[in-house]
Amino acid sequence: MTIVEGTILRGHEFEPIEGRVVVGDDGRIEAVEEGKARSDDIVIPAFVNAHTHVGDSIAKDVGEGMTLEELVAPPDGLKHRLLRAADREEQVTAIRRSLAFAAAGGTAAVLDFREGGVEGVERLHEAAESVPVKALALGRETVAAMEAGEGFGASSTNDGEFASERTATREAGKLFGIHAGEADSSDLNGGLDLDPDFLVHVVHPEPVHLERIADSEVPVVVCPRSNLVTNVGVPPVRDLLDRTTVALGTDNVMLNSPNMFREMAITAKLTDASAREVLGMATRAGAEIAGLNWGVIEPGREARLVVLDGDSDNLAGTKNPVRAVVRRAGVADVSETIGPDQC
Ligand SMILES: [Zn+2]
Repeated sequence: MTIVEGTILRGHEFEPIEGRVVVGDDGRIEAVEEGKARSDDIVIPAFVNAHTHVGDSIAKDVGEGMTLEELVAPPDGLKHRLLRAADREEQVTAIRRSLAFAAAGGTAAVLDFREGGVEGVERLHEAAESVPVKALALGRETVAAMEAGEGFGASSTNDGEFASERTATREAGKLFGIHAGEADSSDLNGGLDLDPDFLVHVVHPEPVHLERIADSEVPVVVCPRSNLVTNVGVPPVRDLLDRTTVALGTDNVMLNSPNMFREMAITAKLTDASAREVLGMATRAGAEIAGLNWGVIEPGREARLVVLDGDSDNLAGTKNPVRAVVRRAGVADVSETIGPDQC
């Protein structure tokens, strides 16, 4: 049994209570109890980073001044050329280090769009072996890559059809995600037509797309920092939250660190989502999309928790722990993560 004390952000509403979380030997949360805590720690659900491309960890910060197209469009965007030139060992090591950084920052799972077919999926799985992050590989190019991994990650219906890949992924009972509405609205209907498990970006929905999103309740993963770097705009987070499940992703490691604190802070400050909603986007929503029983501190959930030092120089004296976690906290405030290894 493991006991974690402090200010617990409890339940779906992240209600701050003083008390403790009791984690059983089976790794599940047994109880969340109110009472005097002998600790200033703040306890939150671990993050689920719902959209990454950790494969381009070999190309951090390249492409200054290039357009989105020049950077990432398959098959010959700069990223794809650099990926082809990288050897296996170099790439696996770079991915492992990105996952280790994500873990240190309180992330327990990533949903990764993985280039390089079956080989690419295997590289991600190998990199994740020694890191306490569940790395879900959504293979990009082929049905075989989907079969080797946890799903299929499609680029956009502007780049191809994906109907047969969609069918195969459904038959395999795996996740199907697709980029849509990133630079403009031209691929939103195509993406929605595929009935995906989630859309990524949705920066430019028109009223008809918002209506379709509401009707189908298809979850959306937004990546605001990535959208700022590629200068495509800001996703209408309020409009999306009012209609469906919205999760948060950090997108290409090439463009941004896989740091959910930074993603939350910018989302909270750039949009009119509340701190509570943003914390839900970073935890519960991604877990829901990935089919993981995490993301909420309540009995019965698998325990994936992050303990923040509420008495760090950064967080000491906060009057609102939810806002502090979302808008102020950083990787340096993480004092412990609770996961399967600890229980
Ligand atoms: Zn992406």
